[in-house]
Amino acid sequence: MPSETLRFDVVISGASFGGLALACGLSQALGPDLKIGLIDRAVPSVAAPIADSRAFALSAASKRMLDVLGLWTLVADVAQPVTSIEITDSTLNTGVRPVLLTYDNVTDDGEPATYIVPNSALQAALRQSVLANSSLKFVAPATATDFVSDDFGIEVLLDGGGVLASSLLVAAEGRHSRLREAAGIKVVGWSYPQVGIVTTVRHDRPHGGCAIQHFLPAGPFAILPLTGNRSCITWTEDADNARRILGLNDLDFLAEVDKRFGGRFGALALDGPRQSWSLEMHLARRYVGPRFALIGDAAHGVHPVAGQGMNLAFRDVAALVEVLSDSIRLGFDVGDLQALARYERWRRFDSMISTATFDGLNRLFSNDRSLMRSGREFGLGLVDRIPKLKHFLVGEAAGLTGELPRLLKGETV
Ligand SMILES: Cc1cc2nc3c(=O)[nH]c(=O)nc-3n(C[C@H](O)[C@H](O)[C@H](O)COP(=O)(O)OP(=O)(O)OC[C@H]3O[C@@H](n4cnc5c(N)ncnc54)[C@H](O)[C@@H]3O)c2cc1C
Repeated sequence: MPSETLRFDVVISGASFGGLALACGLSQALGPDLKIGLIDRAVPSVAAPIADSRAFALSAASKRMLDVLGLWTLVADVAQPVTSIEITDSTLNTGVRPVLLTYDNVTDDGEPATYIVPNSALQAALRQSVLANSSLKFVAPATATDFVSDDFGIEVLLDGGGVLASSLLVAAEGRHSRLREAAGIKVVGWSYPQVGIVTTVRHDRPHGGCAIQHFLPAGPFAILPLTGNRSCITWTEDADNARRILGLNDLDFLAEVDKRFGGRFGALALDGPRQSWSLEMHLARRYVGPRFALIGDAAHGVHPVAGQGMNLAFRDVAALVEVLSDSIRLGFDVGDLQALARYERWRRFDSMISTATFDGLNRLFSNDRSLMRSGREFGLGLVDRIPKLKHFLVGEAAGLTGELPRLLKGETV
């Protein structure tokens, strides 16, 4: 904990996916003269094992940004391309889950639209890159508690009394952002009566790069292919049943996984711990204030039904790097409000649409009403027969639609 005031050009509170990627992006775009401080409650380490066993579905656009930042090469060996998608919609006790929609998950350029990357590899790559960069400095362990700003700068207050001075403060603090609250920015949103369960399984037969989404009455059960004959399960379950399932012994827990899996890849064995997350959706009413910006889950939280939270965080990063770099090169102050307002215009509407869409998808599919089921079967069957609609779904999954920041196109800023 620093006792004197440390000075930076940009301070980022939260050194997870969004915060670390932003530090890498700004440093690459603006060079070593831009001094960046990264606050986190935990000391970042490359060697320490990462307890979080999630694997993330990263879009082709996110992959392009990681490529430009020199990070993709650090995760490429463990990144599993997803080349096809299968979607089913059935009751829990159905033995075989009939496929209602299937498509090739490949863009017009022949690139996989999605890659599954283990959290441990992605975190390690980001940390390694930041630790190797002398213009980026970790201030950890420390918690940002408040800030004060004026025309000339912003001061970030840390627990224990430390102060960091900067021109711009970015909160990348995840869903319960303390600085968002300190900024007086309200959120709209709600908790889901569902829990996200994550585990890893090994299976007898290869997955062939196929990701499967079983829509079940309690919520989506996603089978995300990993390298080798393994898959990461991201499973949304009714909260009461989730508590029961999480308390089972390994054998009974595996039986619950097996019941939902649909027998697609032969016999299953557990290959990692089980973990759980409460699920919520939220959207900040504003993304910026004087010398202040929100990115990632601090700005918006989405249901994991489409595996897009991190991709949205990377879209924020790419947009903020671009507006700040353009503005600083024109001679404006790092915390220029016009540049921040441009970032907000670029990102808020887009993330509002995503938040509403994923909330709607979860509501539409997470129920067992027969009328709804018939409607869904009809809808998915229709999409299955219309190549243009499948093409649209692939473009959305690849994150290549809308006004793309340069990093997401694979260009330097
Ligand atoms: C079950 C599940 C599955 C998911 N699967 C996918 C997927 O497949 N694809 C995808 O794109 N997304 C997925 N997501 C979403 C993804 O995990 C999040 O969108 C992503 O983690 C957001 O990153 P972030 O950097 O904004 O915040 P976080 O990862 O939440 O990190 C916040 C950081 O801030 C630090 N911090 C917080 N407050 C302070 C403070 N006051 N001072 C100092 N430090 C602080 C914390 O220690 C932490 O390091 C999933 C989410 C869940 C729950």
